[in-house]
Order: sequence, then structure tokens, then C-alpha cells
Amino acid sequence: MAVSELTVYTELDKPQQRDLDRCVHCGLCLNACPTYRVLGLEMDSPRGRIYQMVQVAEGAPITPSYVEHLELCLACRGCETACPSGVQYGRLIEAARAEIEARLKRPWAVRTLRRFVFSTLLPSPGWLKLAARLFWLYERSGLQRLVRSTGLLRLFGKLQHLEQLAPRAEFPTFFDAYGKVFPAEGTRRYKVALLGGCIANVSFARLHEATVRVLQKNGCEVHVPAHQTCCGALQLHSGVRSVARRLARQNVDALAGAGFDAILTNSAGCGSTLKEYGELLEHEEAYCDKARQFVEKVRDVNEFLASLELNPNMRPLNLTVTYQDSCHLAHGQKIKAAPRKLLRSIPGLRFQEMPLADLCCGSAGIYNVLQTEMSMEILTRKMECVNATSAQVIATANTGCMLQLRAGVALQGRGQRVAHVVELLDEAYR
Ligand code: SF4
Ligand code: SF4
Repeated sequence: MAVSELTVYTELDKPQQRDLDRCVHCGLCLNACPTYRVLGLEMDSPRGRIYQMVQVAEGAPITPSYVEHLELCLACRGCETACPSGVQYGRLIEAARAEIEARLKRPWAVRTLRRFVFSTLLPSPGWLKLAARLFWLYERSGLQRLVRSTGLLRLFGKLQHLEQLAPRAEFPTFFDAYGKVFPAEGTRRYKVALLGGCIANVSFARLHEATVRVLQKNGCEVHVPAHQTCCGALQLHSGVRSVARRLARQNVDALAGAGFDAILTNSAGCGSTLKEYGELLEHEEAYCDKARQFVEKVRDVNEFLASLELNPNMRPLNLTVTYQDSCHLAHGQKIKAAPRKLLRSIPGLRFQEMPLADLCCGSAGIYNVLQTEMSMEILTRKMECVNATSAQVIATANTGCMLQLRAGVALQGRGQRVAHVVELLDEAYR
């Protein structure tokens, strides 16, 4: 893959004037913006960022300050939900980042690292398994304990937080399930495909297995297609659209037209991107129709399960649970009721809303790695909301949020457990 794949860019990829014109600068989105709530700066609000995009569209140069304000955005799309004028902020920020990616000359080392992560590591089962094995060795060899006990990472500030955020490797990885079919329990009602994603295959393999079991309990024959790949969400959010398009084409080829009733994901970030494949491939004649058919079948697993008459054979779970909305489920896919309905369907479970549940936790894909300081400030505020409840469990619907909330519990929590909604359903079915 040539370096240039990261910078393939056309006029269609930059923020479109019709999208920019929708903003009437009313400011009703400001309080929904996590970075504005922390900094109180107009330039770090949705309205301010759109204003800066307008200036660039009118010919202003792409300056380091512009890049900084746009990179500090979580792309959480909380502003999109709050906006009464229908501004599609998610489209705008993705397009603005694609323009930055194409026009900004990054240092050679940064370009090389980005190329490796986005186009080689994330879509490659082999590389992901190798990375998981190395991290497993770091954990199991005692090196991690040694590094933590010496306080070495504190010297490097950010590294200490990153180490806390790092996912654990889980073996066997979910790549072992690729190409397999898991039969429905009882009468088959649905034939569904499950997407494994990228990092989740090695760090959330047990969650994926729980997802398969819950679907089987609800009459689904679950296929894990072998030729699927990473959804492209991290690439898309980082402005690397050409790689995201390549991955989208591969997933469409692997899954569209295979007769599935639904194409499922348990990760809200992936689901949000999969549902955008129609737009991403709209200018590719060979793919635009196939991509639209694909999108019609994509469902978040919460959305899918909540639409069924759920198998009621669950045992009671004596737990108090709160729910953190994943931004790409609540704001990206407009799904808030489904996970709450599923939690409330578990006998014995007591559900407690936390304040500001739909405000971002600071995870946002790899934002917590790139913008660690802001991410941690947002996480601190989120943990105050969590600790205002008496919940023993924080449920959520996205693997990235799970890692972030686990770090939050380690730093400021009260020993809460973090679980995916599907994991709680799985426990109730066992
Ligand atoms: S994005 Fe929407 S809510 Fe925010 S200033 Fe523009 S029109 Fe108003
Ligand atoms: S996407 Fe999130 S962080 Fe970015 S401007 Fe909108 S509300 Fe603020």
C-alpha cells in the first residue's frame, strides 16, 4: 500500500457548502459539547468549529490553530442531537479532517506510524494477533507489575494513563470464530451475520462470544463471515477516507446479498460507520447500490434484540445498574431506548439513570490516546455522574467506552463493574 492512499482526496471529501450553510449560529448546541463545557471557549464549541470550517472553505489557510481546535473535537455528535437546524456535524467534522489529512504535511515519522496503524495493523488479523501476544507477554511476564511498582510511567505523564487504557488481550481471540456458523437454539427465526471489528477481536473476544450466545437464545443462526474486515471507523474519524472506503468495499462484498436478515455489531462506533457506507461509497458506481442494500441490514445488537419478542427464560440478577450512552449509538444512530429496554427486561435488575448519561465519556475511538489530557478531564466529570448513583454496574454499548469507563473506575470509581448490555443478558440466560 502506497503512502498516497492516506491522502487520496477529492473535492467531494471536503466540507460541503450546503452542510455548512445549515448552521444559523444560534448556540443551542454549546452545552451539549464536552470540550466547550470544559474550556468555555467558542473556538472549541460546535458553532466555533463550524465557523472555522467556513473560513477555510472561503480560502483561509489550514493553520496549526485550526488543526488543533478540530482535533480537540471528540466527534461525539452530541451537538448534532441538540441542533434544531439539522446540522449534520458528524459529516462536517469527518470531511474537515479528510481535508486536513490531504493538505497537511505531517512529519515523516508521524505519516509512517499513521500509515501502519490505519492501513496495516487495524485491518490485519495477523498483526492484531501479534500485538495481542506481545501485550499478553508484557502482562504475564511480570514486566507490567515491575513497571507499575517502579512508577516509571509517571515520568512520562501521558504514558501512565495510556497504560491504564490499554485493552487486555483475550485468548483464544475471536478470529478463531471466523468462518463458523452457530446454530439457533430451538426454532431458527433469523439468519444473522456478526461483525467482529478489529481490536475487539483480540481484546473483547469473550464479549463477542456472549453476543453469539444471546443471539442463539433468541432464535438466531449466527454466521461469522470469514472475509469481513475492520469497519473503517477509526480511519474515517481520522480523515483517512480512502482506507475506510477500501474496507467498506471489502465488507460489502463479503456480506451484501448473502441472504442475512440482519448484519449485527455490538460496538456502537462500528455500527455508526457501517450505516454510513451508503454515503461513503455513493460516488462509486459499482458499489453504491450494493452499499445501500448492505446498510438496510445493519443493526446494532441492542436495536435488533429490543425489536424482538425476547426469550423470557432469564434468571434474576440482583444488581443495581446505570447506563452510559455510547455517543455513536445515542447521537450517531439515535438509539437510546433500546439498551434501557433490554436492561429493564432482566428480572431482579434495578435500573438507575445517571445525570448527563448521553454526554461523552471521553473515549471517542483513539481520542483518549491522542488527546489524553482533555479525555481525562471529561472522564473525571463522567465519574462524578456515575458516583451520584448507587449502581454496582455501569452498562454501556461500545467497547471503547468500556475501556474508558474501566480506567475511570480505577482512577475515581467505587469499585463498579463495567459491562456491555449484552454481557448482562448473557449472565441472565446462563
Ligand atoms: S450547529 Fe445547530 S445548534 Fe449549533 S449553532 Fe449551528 S445551528 Fe445552532
Ligand atoms: S462532536 Fe462533540 S466535541 Fe465535537 S463539537 Fe460536537 S459536541 Fe463538541
